[in-house]
Amino acid sequence: MRHVIIGSSAAGIAAAAEIRKHQKDAVIVMISKDEHVHSRCMLHKYISHERDVKGLDFTEENFFENQKVDYIQNEVISVLEDEKCVLLRSGEQIPYDKLLIASGAGSFIPPIGDLRTADNVFGMRNLSDAQAIDKMADSAQNVLVIGAGLAGMDAAYAMLERGKKVTVLEMSHRILPVQLDAHSAEVYQRKFESKGTIFYLGRRLEKTISGTGGQICRVVLDTGENIDCDVIIVAAGVRPTIDFLDKSKVEAGRGILVDACLQTNIRDIYAAGDVTGLSGIWPNAVKQGTVAARNMCGIAEKYTDTFNEKNMMNFFGIVTLYLGQICTRKDEVVLTEEDRNVYRRVSIREGKVTGVLLQGDISNAGVWQYLIKNEIDISHIKKNIFQISYADFFSVKADGEYRWKCEGQNFKF
Ligand SMILES: Cc1cc2nc3c(=O)[nH]c(=O)nc-3n(C[C@H](O)[C@H](O)[C@H](O)COP(=O)(O)OP(=O)(O)OC[C@H]3O[C@@H](n4cnc5c(N)ncnc54)[C@H](O)[C@@H]3O)c2cc1C
Repeated sequence: MRHVIIGSSAAGIAAAAEIRKHQKDAVIVMISKDEHVHSRCMLHKYISHERDVKGLDFTEENFFENQKVDYIQNEVISVLEDEKCVLLRSGEQIPYDKLLIASGAGSFIPPIGDLRTADNVFGMRNLSDAQAIDKMADSAQNVLVIGAGLAGMDAAYAMLERGKKVTVLEMSHRILPVQLDAHSAEVYQRKFESKGTIFYLGRRLEKTISGTGGQICRVVLDTGENIDCDVIIVAAGVRPTIDFLDKSKVEAGRGILVDACLQTNIRDIYAAGDVTGLSGIWPNAVKQGTVAARNMCGIAEKYTDTFNEKNMMNFFGIVTLYLGQICTRKDEVVLTEEDRNVYRRVSIREGKVTGVLLQGDISNAGVWQYLIKNEIDISHIKKNIFQISYADFFSVKADGEYRWKCEGQNFKF
């Protein structure tokens, strides 16, 4: 069997390792534009000089040799499904029996003013972006970050660490609007402000003003306000990387369309990770890569994930973990608890926990994860919900085995 994987990031690497587990003799070929395997989540650490290129590599030592994966550094420019091969920029054709598309997503640069053409504007997606930002940061003083999501705040944090004057522009009225609620976002915003960051929230970029040499030196907002800048980092969303499928029959909408087993509309072609548009976070890309790989090996498995979000962030030593859904629906009850530097927030629907946010102390995270994943009804718990523990759900049998306290409820380990 000959497996070809496009992409060498979270989904692609997880898929290669999983295929090797099940098929010792299969040929695995990985094609990637990346010169070095790297974690996108760590790019800010490269910019702040905390890690070098090697430090961004998330694979185990000698991964490609040990897993017998042939790595081709090149760009796929077309998928020729009738011939069952992919065409590379170099002109070479690489045949496959099973193909996994794990080509991820790319930065979206809005078509405003000179944003797409100026040479001091960068996305924040690939190592090459981080390398370009790093180089530019040597001479730049005023850094404008557009977008206050995770990638944007990572970039802002890295630039603060480099001693730059950082300004953040965000359309939403608060930072990290997808990941956090208003309270926890404000905790971080205040910290950033105390280090000199200026925020323009609830505003849009309207036009750019370029100086000599093709660089933007100032932007104008919809409010008429002006911001001077030497470098602009755009972290205003991503788009799935599917341009090389233009002439193929693989169907895509806001991402490549897949069935429950992550197979596309074309037999033997699978997709996993950010390119499917099912999720935009690392753990889910890994899980999709793993599930797709099993199906490619003939082990039928469906992709399911109760968590549409599960993530952690850490700015200025304040750690935050969020699980499940943070944007609350009208039929949900939200409970919060605040104690000095610790903040906890739980949303509950029909007796079941749908989302949890823990800031400052994440020590009880395992219990919350368990409750969400197993959709456990907690309506019988009468005590303060923030003091909930495994002991509320289990008793221990004489032989030491855990026993479920609530009869009639199904649960999974
Ligand atoms: C700055 C930043 C911070 C982030 N922080 C977090 C975080 O804290 N937590 C979290 O969970 N997630 C985070 N994410 C998101 C996370 O990085 C992504 O969900 C994850 O990288 C998706 O993995 P993927 O394998 O689907 O695709 P990607 O990581 O996008 O990789 C795509 C791969 O495909 C290759 N490729 C693309 N097109 C082609 C082509 N035509 N030919 C050959 N190769 C191609 C690329 O070179 C690359 O190897 C962050 C992302 C960024 C950018």
